[in-house]
Amino acid sequence: MRTNTNVELDAGTKTFASGLLPDLIAALRCSRKGDLIAVIGSDPAIGPALEAWCRFTRNSLVETTVDGGRTRWVLRYGEAPEDVGDDRPVGSRLWLYTNFDCNLSCDYCCVRSSPKAPRRALGVERVRRIAIEAAELGVSEIFITGGEPFMLPDIGKIIAACAASMPTTVLTNGMLFAGRGLATLRALPRERVAFQISLDSPTPERHDDHRGNGTWARAWKGIERARAEGFRVRLAATVSTDAEAEEFRGFLDAHQVSEENRVIRRIALRGSAEQGIALARADLVPEVTITADGVFWHPVGAEDNDLLVSREIFPLAESFAAVRRAFDRESDHQRRLARIFNCA
Ligand code: SF4
Repeated sequence: MRTNTNVELDAGTKTFASGLLPDLIAALRCSRKGDLIAVIGSDPAIGPALEAWCRFTRNSLVETTVDGGRTRWVLRYGEAPEDVGDDRPVGSRLWLYTNFDCNLSCDYCCVRSSPKAPRRALGVERVRRIAIEAAELGVSEIFITGGEPFMLPDIGKIIAACAASMPTTVLTNGMLFAGRGLATLRALPRERVAFQISLDSPTPERHDDHRGNGTWARAWKGIERARAEGFRVRLAATVSTDAEAEEFRGFLDAHQVSEENRVIRRIALRGSAEQGIALARADLVPEVTITADGVFWHPVGAEDNDLLVSREIFPLAESFAAVRRAFDRESDHQRRLARIFNCA
């Protein structure tokens, strides 16, 4: 299913070297910030040129699809919506990648996790220090993710260290709540810890297609187990199309899952994914993300160099300041470019 856009610009045989640029600028002049513009062409050389042009002009190339020998590039006029950061100040949420190994190897995993991925554990001592410093910086919630956090023998201590400082949500595939995992689950404080468990579709087919046979049933069992143990459980679906999102909404309605306990997001073209929404740094309001390898701009690219902010985690105040400085600088740059562009 192709993304609907505000403007469809058929490049015909034009390229950036032969008349496409004036057409593109004309299309932008009839558009508003946030509009999507599709450029359809036959020459693959348009792609790299369009990507470079988008970077230079601070627009965002968000999708590329090929159909019948023609390529359709979708760009958004401008960067992330201007009001996104208003109700979620930079630094209000903190993401921790506790590890990168996983019991699954989903085909769209944004950090290429799998049973073979090196663990790259953050470690309980670093997490303790992060949680304490984060509380001093005014962070209001920690999100623990991976990899699969329950692969770690000390995940109980890690979650407890975070929960001692502030409310903590653990992102998990929900499949390791047995034996040691179940004992860990039972020992956690219900009032400070919530779980976000991945379930991609109302029935197993699509979920299992991406994540492996039998995984839907095991995830559902994990959801029921965490709920039965008294935890708040948020269901998170990763989908490819608006139709899949709508279908999943119906499923959540039928199961009386409230709005605050549901997350539906599109597959991001990062990590192992071969299709999905292309996200540039400029598209992402930063959410400080810490891994064993350093501090990143956003959890969706927590091993990608374009989102790396610093190799140094501590002092945490400096990491946060580095992210805010970069965000302010880029927002200011965007504003200036927008004015120059509008007057051209
Ligand atoms: S998407 Fe989640 S469950 Fe799947 S491989 Fe990645 S970390 Fe593991």
